Amino acid sequence: MPESTHIVQRRLSVSVQPVPKQDAAARVKNFDETYFGFDLNAAKIEASRCIQCPSAPCQEACPVGNDIPGAFAFLEVGDIEAAADKFRETSNLPEMCGRLCPQEKLCEGACVVGFAIRPDGRNEPAVTIGKLEAFCTDSQRKTLGGYPMPRYLPEPTGHHVAVVGAGPAGLAVAEQCALIGHSVTIYEFWPEPGGVLVYGIPNFKMRKSIVDDYITHLEALGVTFVCNTYVGRDITVEDMFAQGADAIFLGTGAGVGNVMEIEGEGLKGVHKATDFLVRGNLTGESLPSGLEEPLPKLTNMVVIGGGDTAMDCVRTGIRLGAERVMCVYRRTEAEMLGRGEERKNAREEGVEFLMLTLPTRIIGNEAGEVVSVELQKMELGAPDASGRRAPKAIKGSEYIVPADCVAIAIGYGADPIVPKTTSGLKADRKALVQIDPSGRTSRPGVFAGGDNVNGADLVVTALADGRRAADGINAYIRGLPKRR
Ligand code: SF4
Repeated sequence: MPESTHIVQRRLSVSVQPVPKQDAAARVKNFDETYFGFDLNAAKIEASRCIQCPSAPCQEACPVGNDIPGAFAFLEVGDIEAAADKFRETSNLPEMCGRLCPQEKLCEGACVVGFAIRPDGRNEPAVTIGKLEAFCTDSQRKTLGGYPMPRYLPEPTGHHVAVVGAGPAGLAVAEQCALIGHSVTIYEFWPEPGGVLVYGIPNFKMRKSIVDDYITHLEALGVTFVCNTYVGRDITVEDMFAQGADAIFLGTGAGVGNVMEIEGEGLKGVHKATDFLVRGNLTGESLPSGLEEPLPKLTNMVVIGGGDTAMDCVRTGIRLGAERVMCVYRRTEAEMLGRGEERKNAREEGVEFLMLTLPTRIIGNEAGEVVSVELQKMELGAPDASGRRAPKAIKGSEYIVPADCVAIAIGYGADPIVPKTTSGLKADRKALVQIDPSGRTSRPGVFAGGDNVNGADLVVTALADGRRAADGINAYIRGLPKRR
């Protein structure tokens, strides 16, 4: 048997290392991260399960093309710093992607180890890539006391880039442009930078201090943040050009929550998912005006939707003390688009899943407060345009469940205000901005990427768009007259 086959067999015989996490009974009483993460020994063993495939299908499947086998080659010998740097070569937010990406559909879904049969005839899951990425980069920040800074700050180019939206795409553009030496200002609607990373992702999935540290890092690179600013109303793209921006990046995301269009959506106690998550997970100065009031004590909560945002809502509801939390979804679990890991965590925490069920109306009392939800049973018919089997109502199957809180988590759309207030900027009827492969829009000097281009998608796809657009911006600025 060739030596290389021996090495692969030895690596395949290493057992998967479990990722320690808080016990469900304990974690429902706090908002701390669910996963404790690997320790160094387990991380080294887990990294040694990687068989170092020359074609690296995991890297191919990663939207930012992380050199995963390269990082694991360092990690398995204990060189955490080099492993973390390898992830940072292609990703601005590896500790966040390691926690938030649906790895089972990306890198881990492509990992050869997940398909291989071990020498003892068993097969084992893919290498736990995401949590190793988080381990390496967390450990590096802990050692350095923050994100690694470049050895030398670049010479200022004299050019200015304005970024609209401090979510994953905008933050990546800001870092890449600041590293070139452009001055960068980010305009953000929310009171704090981070976008969905702060205002959408609950602490039990990712602690906010990771985002705070990254913002501190960007400030150290010279990036300026202007928060509580609604671009299109408080300042326009035209104003930014007039104030000296050479290029503008639009990374406004997709933050407009879809509605059911059923009776009772305006009742007190019925929330759009983001409003519920903001009020349930944030405090103090992070809270935007209108959402400062803490949520009242919950008893029966209904969450409508089956994606990751719905799981964030149900798990937040459990932590806020609701006695019963129901996740209502009109198809079956097989059609759910969110992460299986999140549904597993939600089930462990006591969430009740009502599949093949559609809310038909939300019922209130005389004070205008929600008291119950009418639900109807569904069955699956032929596939619809999404390729998933379409749900059909079963007549006469309606029933009522009590509810003092309802969260609607059925997807997001883009805000049309920037396309409406920017001349020459082409957007489609869903307000999604049209771009070319380098992120250029139809308006010269304006670039875009992330959810306001693609529709609601992943943190990592927004990040990949941001990096591409930063390259496009730099190429565009190189073509401008020099400014010092
Ligand atoms: S596919 Fe899996 S085994 Fe192959 S290089 Fe990537 S992580 Fe390693």
